[in-house]
Amino acid sequence: MLELLLPPPVDPLWDLTEAFGADARPERLNLVLGVYRDHTGGTPVMAAVREAEIRLAQRSVSKEYRGLSGNTAFNRAMLSMVLGDGGASERAVAVQTVAGSGALRLLADLICRTRPGTTVWISDPAYVNHRPILEAAGLKVRTYGWLDSEGRSDAEGMLRDLAGARRDDVVLLQGCCHNPSGVDPDARTWEALASLAALEGWVPFVDLAYHGLGDGLEADLAATRMLAERVPEMLIAISCSKNFGLYSDRTGCAVVLGASRQSLRHVETALQNAARTLYSMPPEHGAAVVTAILEDDGLRTAWRTELDAMRGRIEANRAGLAARLGALGWDTQAASLARQKGMFSMLPLSAEQMVRLRGEFAIYGTTAGRINIAGLPSDRITCLARGIAGVLER
Ligand code: PMP
Repeated sequence: MLELLLPPPVDPLWDLTEAFGADARPERLNLVLGVYRDHTGGTPVMAAVREAEIRLAQRSVSKEYRGLSGNTAFNRAMLSMVLGDGGASERAVAVQTVAGSGALRLLADLICRTRPGTTVWISDPAYVNHRPILEAAGLKVRTYGWLDSEGRSDAEGMLRDLAGARRDDVVLLQGCCHNPSGVDPDARTWEALASLAALEGWVPFVDLAYHGLGDGLEADLAATRMLAERVPEMLIAISCSKNFGLYSDRTGCAVVLGASRQSLRHVETALQNAARTLYSMPPEHGAAVVTAILEDDGLRTAWRTELDAMRGRIEANRAGLAARLGALGWDTQAASLARQKGMFSMLPLSAEQMVRLRGEFAIYGTTAGRINIAGLPSDRITCLARGIAGVLER
């Protein structure tokens, strides 16, 4: 059997990670993977998470099966956090998933069960796993523009492309801190997207992976909440990997909004059936931790403070990099970097310049120019600015 297996395509990010591992230069800097790092270069367990884990360990009595929707208190907490209490959350169903990726896949399966072969529109550029997840579920993928030639949000191009979206198509939108570009639409463009969706009847599918790491938790959720109030149906994939630092605990949630409670009557069972054929039940630990934090005023405040501090570090890194690049004479490039938000930045470099950044300066970003700005140690900001200037000069 196995002799029939064709060589599979290699994930370019893991390829780069391997090349980094083999790089012997002491100054090597890995900015490829999307993981938050503190000033020491570590990805610590958040203090609120550690405290919640201690409390859970003290009162844990059983690891019995939880059910196909996972931890229901967690699902309620996710609805309340993302949509607020009342309003849209009254016409929503939520099930716990295996992190954000699991939510994307489960919702893709739901779309397929509803209407096989549905077209889902994704941004160009998109998160590297959007297309593979959607296609693996059997959906068709088309793209809409995201950036103009100067690397700004291209509202006009996006709305023009999405004018081609038909009723019952699905449009996947990252709710904030767009991966890979760090560029988000402004509030007016989000409003225009909501009007278009309401008018044409396509279904927004919001991917939330970085809320809290852009402009602050509420601000980062504003576009999602506005959309939820304006359209009858909507899908939301929530990841707790970044904002709770629960990467390996695989914690997330899939949310489906319907025009009414009645319209949602088959949704939870359909999601449960889909989960059953994929992985059966999601892991409990991360969901229990998040619930313990969100249900306790003290832990919730501690978590918000920590999250704000992470966001502050990311902002300081980005501002520092832009300032140093500006000081080296690259003002336009610096201004474009300074406008970006969230864990990622797109460097103003071509694929060939990114390869040179790796070869000449031991700085690793993706070949498309994405770097993890949250993974940059503060004492290496100048070195990164010099590297960028170095490859821009020649
Ligand atoms: N969506 C986006 C835009 C992402 O960047 C990521 C992870 N990097 C995910 C979803 C999935 O995250 P996870 O499965 O780790 O929660």
